[in-house]
Amino acid sequence: MKKNKVKLSDVTTYKFGGTCNSYFEIDSEKQIQEFDFQNIDIDNIFVIGKGSNIVFSDNGYSGTILKPNLDFIEYNQAKSTLKLGSATFLPDIARYSNAHSIADLEWLIGIPGSVGGAVRMNAGAYGYEFSQHIQYVNFFNLEKNKFETQHKDYFNFSYRESENLENCVITSVELNVEEGDPVKIKERISKNLQHRKATQPAAIYNAGSVFKNPKGYSAGYLIENAGLKGHCIGGVKVSEKHANFFVAEKDSKAQSLYDLVKFTKSVIFDKYQIKLEEEIIFLGDFN
Ligand SMILES: Cc1cc2nc3c(=O)[nH]c(=O)nc-3n(C[C@H](O)[C@H](O)[C@H](O)COP(=O)(O)OP(=O)(O)OC[C@H]3O[C@@H](n4cnc5c(N)ncnc54)[C@H](O)[C@@H]3O)c2cc1C
Repeated sequence: MKKNKVKLSDVTTYKFGGTCNSYFEIDSEKQIQEFDFQNIDIDNIFVIGKGSNIVFSDNGYSGTILKPNLDFIEYNQAKSTLKLGSATFLPDIARYSNAHSIADLEWLIGIPGSVGGAVRMNAGAYGYEFSQHIQYVNFFNLEKNKFETQHKDYFNFSYRESENLENCVITSVELNVEEGDPVKIKERISKNLQHRKATQPAAIYNAGSVFKNPKGYSAGYLIENAGLKGHCIGGVKVSEKHANFFVAEKDSKAQSLYDLVKFTKSVIFDKYQIKLEEEIIFLGDFN
């Protein structure tokens, strides 16, 4: 494990942001244990997965970033459990479930995040939430300087939220799984992919839904209905295809996204008296 300087655009799906001078990739649990956290302000440590839900500011991130590279899938068919390393790519889990006839993980096919991010964000789609599969989460607690395992109840999962994971590096997760019909699994994967292709902007810089859906409403519907589809600030615009996706042109600025988010929130509040809450996470300096 060695300290590097990274361009944050290389480690996030939005592809903007400045640099971080204190970036560590962690390849094993042993490396986490051996890491010298004493000289680092724990509150300034950010744990990154695939960077598919975060926006770093244009002048970079002054804290420390840890990226665990713990990527594995272990299926215990006899116990009906799946152990996943925190860096495992969610679409790989859907593909694995297809290959091993495991039901109900097809929905992960179109989410370009990692297991760690899916736990922390309680990622969800098509009526599923990641937390519903979880049995235990294994993590390194930076404050207590030790590994812990906790049952899912400890995290009070709710819509795109988890608790008690601040200052923790998730290392792996154990899921309860069930066997499924291989034909249906294959069908559901291809249906999910088709649906994503038809409804979401493809292959352009974004981080999925910008806002959480307010209770009883769809954020995308509210934004579209307010006439904001296509609204653009500095090369970042509200997608024509899905109004809750804000897509960025190459070389646009994180600040432009921030401004577009602020603008959208004020329009929606004026029109509907509804306060939109960001699902994406802004990190660093914005004004
Ligand atoms: C095209 C597209 C489609 C998307 N569709 C969906 C969707 O349908 N549903 C959905 O819920 N989301 C969706 N997302 C958003 C995003 O992919 C998910 O939130 C995903 O779970 C984030 O995972 P990540 O590894 O990228 O996390 P990051 O963006 O890297 O981080 C997100 C949060 O997780 C924390 N985190 C990440 N790894 C760890 C770890 N090992 N230990 C502790 N904390 C960690 C970070 O600190 C941060 O708080 C989409 C994004 C894109 C770009």
